[in-house]
Amino acid sequence: MIEIDADIAVIGAGFSGSLIAMLLHRMGLRPVLVDRGSHPRFAVGESSTPVANLILEGLAHRYDLPRIAPLANYASWKRTYPEIVCGLKRGFSYFHHEFGRDFQPRTDRANELLVAASLTNEDADTHWLRSDFDRFLAAEVERMEIPYFDQTSIEQLIPRGDGWELNGRSESLQEAINIRADFMIDASGEGGFLAKTLGIEPHPDNMKTRSRGLFSHFTDVARWGDLYADRGGDRSGHPYPCDDAALHHVFDGGWMWVLPFDNGVTSAGFALDPDRFPRETSGSPETEWATMMDRLPAVAEQFARAKLIVPWRQTGRMQRRLSRSAGPNWVMLPNTAAFHDPLHSTGNTFTLIGIERLMDMFERCWGRPELEGELRKYDALVQKEVEFIDLVVSGSFAGFRQFERMIAMSMFYFATSIFSEEERRAGRVAKGAAFLSADRPELRTALNQAVQDISDPAVSSADFTARITAAIKPFNRVGLCDPLRLNMYPYEFS
Ligand SMILES: Cc1cc2nc3c(=O)[nH]c(=O)nc-3n(C[C@H](O)[C@H](O)[C@H](O)COP(=O)(O)OP(=O)(O)OC[C@H]3O[C@@H](n4cnc5c(N)ncnc54)[C@H](O)[C@@H]3O)c2cc1C
Repeated sequence: MIEIDADIAVIGAGFSGSLIAMLLHRMGLRPVLVDRGSHPRFAVGESSTPVANLILEGLAHRYDLPRIAPLANYASWKRTYPEIVCGLKRGFSYFHHEFGRDFQPRTDRANELLVAASLTNEDADTHWLRSDFDRFLAAEVERMEIPYFDQTSIEQLIPRGDGWELNGRSESLQEAINIRADFMIDASGEGGFLAKTLGIEPHPDNMKTRSRGLFSHFTDVARWGDLYADRGGDRSGHPYPCDDAALHHVFDGGWMWVLPFDNGVTSAGFALDPDRFPRETSGSPETEWATMMDRLPAVAEQFARAKLIVPWRQTGRMQRRLSRSAGPNWVMLPNTAAFHDPLHSTGNTFTLIGIERLMDMFERCWGRPELEGELRKYDALVQKEVEFIDLVVSGSFAGFRQFERMIAMSMFYFATSIFSEEERRAGRVAKGAAFLSADRPELRTALNQAVQDISDPAVSSADFTARITAAIKPFNRVGLCDPLRLNMYPYEFS
């Protein structure tokens, strides 16, 4: 029998569980990390953002993790860890397609949106090849001699006084395991460890966003920028090469992500509205993929020679939201408490914001009665953030039909995330401030109104955009919604 006494048991050794275990260790606490699987393993959730990288860098410096810091930037990652595969992310690229029609670039760029997230490759964001990235972080956990048990299932969770007793079995060590911990952090994501063991119900409001996924990894995917130029598109007006990005192919009822890594592998997949594209009638993954390619001829050309290199994932509805994300001696990371959709790459940044907020809380309140109240505040803020992201993402889905409305709706995301980036760079953001300024009542009111307006034929697209332009004004530092920019937004910070 393996017996462990810990301050905090972290369940789930994805990037978030491994990272928080290291931070807790550096803070002087005794974490133990448990995962039912082992590395390397396939995972999606690959795209970082400027705010995600600022948080990662800040945490690495604050908690003296010099081996983690280089991962917060494309150039330093490549220089320091060329063997850990990543991809170059200079921004967010969106192209609007109509079913059955070839993509045709327009001189007014009305069917494109490019928002830069960096000035050069030197300061760019990354796509994380999660099998490599997560394996590296878990190996760092072991290097720091933090107790880490992979292939370990926890079969029993017993409240003991103010803490917990966890009983299970480690398959890798072929032994029973008994862990006593004062506190639990659930980083199990979709696994929903605490939701299952404590019987935490889904949130009664659920989510407005509705999508299901079909995705995998491929080789031999063509560069979209080349196909765009072949069709007469002017690439010189793009603020960065449009493939060096989280590339979104958008259409009525869904969208597709294309994230290229530097080793020739590309992560790609569809997020589809299940009411428009029911799973019951979609057929096998191969059939559904072929059907989508038939509908999207330009995308079909991009994937004409693509080879699948890991098995298809074809999911049911992806959204999940729990009614609680924290209790007196436990907490869930944001990605465990809720998941929306990969649109606009909110997942990893949200998770990192949660980690930063928790570390601040532990530093101030560990071992003190105030912790319980702080955890209540954490839960309330996470729920607000979940609702805010849900409105932005579901509103964007509603706008896929009329792309100019999707562009306007996405400005709630871009204005607030660029604002947060600028505030962070200037050292003005309090640790754990709300993701996307989701706690600002006037912004939430405007966002709610926009979600109502977006499908309302009585509201013209010009009025719709004008209302959003006014709503985001206090956050809009980089000229978003300026019609003279023709949907091309270069990076504005130096
Ligand atoms: C299709 C899709 C695309 C996405 N794309 C993006 C994107 O582009 N950008 C972005 O920011 N976010 C994206 N996300 C969200 C992203 O996946 C998450 O933010 C990210 O994976 C969080 O990582 P994590 O380490 O918290 O959890 P995970 O990567 O889910 O890791 C959870 C770990 O917990 C372990 N586990 C689960 N249950 C148990 C259990 N009972 N006991 C022990 N261990 C357990 C698992 O084995 C796993 O190792 C996407 C999500 C999906 C579904």
